[in-house]
Amino acid sequence: MSEKKMTRREFNAASTATIALATTATVANAQSSDAFDLVILSGRVMDPETSFDGVANVGVRNGRIAAITTDAITGKEIIDATGHVVTAGFIDTHYHWPRPMGNKLALRDGRTTVLDLEMGTLGTSMSQWYAEREGNNQTNYGAASAHEFARALVLDGITTNDTPEAMNHRGSGKTGWSSTRPDIETGNEILRVLDTGLTAGGLGIGSTLGYMRDGVSAREAFELQKLAGLYGRQCGFHFRYTPGTDTMESNGIQELLANAAALGAPAIACHFNNPGYNLVHELLTRMRARGMNVWGELYPYAAGSTALNAVFLEPEVWVKQLGYKYEDTIQDALTGEWYTEQSRAEMLKKEPARIVQVYKMPESAIVDWLKMPGVAIASDTMPIVVDGLTWDTPYEDLPNTHPRGAGSCARALRMGREHGIPLMQSISQLNYNSARPLSEMGLKAMQERGRMQEGMVADITIFDPATVTDKATYVQGALPSEGIPYVIVNGTVVVKDSEVLKGVNPGQPIRFEPTESRMEPLAIETWTNTFYAVPHDFGGGVPGSQPHYEHTVPCCE
Ligand SMILES: [Zn+2]
Repeated sequence: MSEKKMTRREFNAASTATIALATTATVANAQSSDAFDLVILSGRVMDPETSFDGVANVGVRNGRIAAITTDAITGKEIIDATGHVVTAGFIDTHYHWPRPMGNKLALRDGRTTVLDLEMGTLGTSMSQWYAEREGNNQTNYGAASAHEFARALVLDGITTNDTPEAMNHRGSGKTGWSSTRPDIETGNEILRVLDTGLTAGGLGIGSTLGYMRDGVSAREAFELQKLAGLYGRQCGFHFRYTPGTDTMESNGIQELLANAAALGAPAIACHFNNPGYNLVHELLTRMRARGMNVWGELYPYAAGSTALNAVFLEPEVWVKQLGYKYEDTIQDALTGEWYTEQSRAEMLKKEPARIVQVYKMPESAIVDWLKMPGVAIASDTMPIVVDGLTWDTPYEDLPNTHPRGAGSCARALRMGREHGIPLMQSISQLNYNSARPLSEMGLKAMQERGRMQEGMVADITIFDPATVTDKATYVQGALPSEGIPYVIVNGTVVVKDSEVLKGVNPGQPIRFEPTESRMEPLAIETWTNTFYAVPHDFGGGVPGSQPHYEHTVPCCE
């Protein structure tokens, strides 16, 4: 350790004694003869990685946290954070609304980084998707290579670039993306589209497998994880049987985790706030203890949200298999009306992909989720896609949507406060628990975020722990959170006095360096050479479409 540089960990160790604090202050003085670009004074600085928790001043210079000190410091811009918590900006890995208004609401909820690691971006559009956001995004941004969109492109010939465009195929009446079982050659085409996204630096592969449970075989899911694993990157799945019973849900994640274990590939269990969550959490915790980079995220709401034509909302699944009644589980997001089997059928003819809220968990489960160590909060923010929506549209005028998009982080903090959950645990769920596993994949942008430490990128969220709260409800889902007066992205103040500053766009791409392809196309010879048995095709779960075996050779008679 040099004289000049003291790490956050060392500072933390030293700060327990007053005499040591004086020493640290001297060190900070030595390196800060010039004024900082920005100083945040007298806040309660909290860092989950080191457990540092103390009142200190923060100096920001050149977009980085340059000092955390009890010494008096000055800067060109000053924020008085007295009575507020100062921590690393919140990181949301499940975010489907990469548009200005979505980002604005995310910022009000304390999020500095929003990534879509479940649905993602079309692999062949990945470079362009990142390029479009360069210099004009308020938050940090990134996406996984999208399995669903790769299938829509290859099997239906439809281009969907990211989730706000999902109606391109989901509303098209074509079902190849969800139910077609590809042969090996077509399977390779799907993998190639995904691979293009990985070579462009995309953040692993996202799969909405639960929407494609019939068309995507166990083989195809395995091959996705194998491909992402060749780059050391994760796959994030909406599990095959989500939403389901506790056993179905667990079986869904066991598919993901068994593949992850066999391949040594990282994996994210997406929104496991469903029946079976206790087993899912135990599986993840035990696998992490064995050194595997697998983790889970969830949003703190009892209801989910999806399109009315989702396969799992079909009467055969929702009513017969899972035992739900439409009348008390499926609510129209816009009108608040509850569906019946009949009114659902009628709406499907008019607007198949209409957005609904799906009530499936008791409120008490949310408290369990907020207590679970190692789990990350992610919002599953749904896009609002209406004509005439701009950055300036008043929040009150936005059509209703699931409140998780606007309120997940503040809600986790508010509920944590109400239920006696340690504040550091809640903060860790909002920043470090996402940053850590992504860091472990070698993603540099996440090795220097999610941590309130000297030398880290200055993504900083400042909130009042006594008042921070979500305002979005199931009736009015796009109201911004309150009690988060300042949000700083890459050293630049973007939220000031609880207002998002227009035209301030310091967001940076969160991505891997573009790289050569590592894809190994599926080939009969490869399987034969390694003595694995050759599959007939990608397989599929569609009833009645099992692989066709010729029974002409009487092998065993
Ligand atoms: Zn999902």
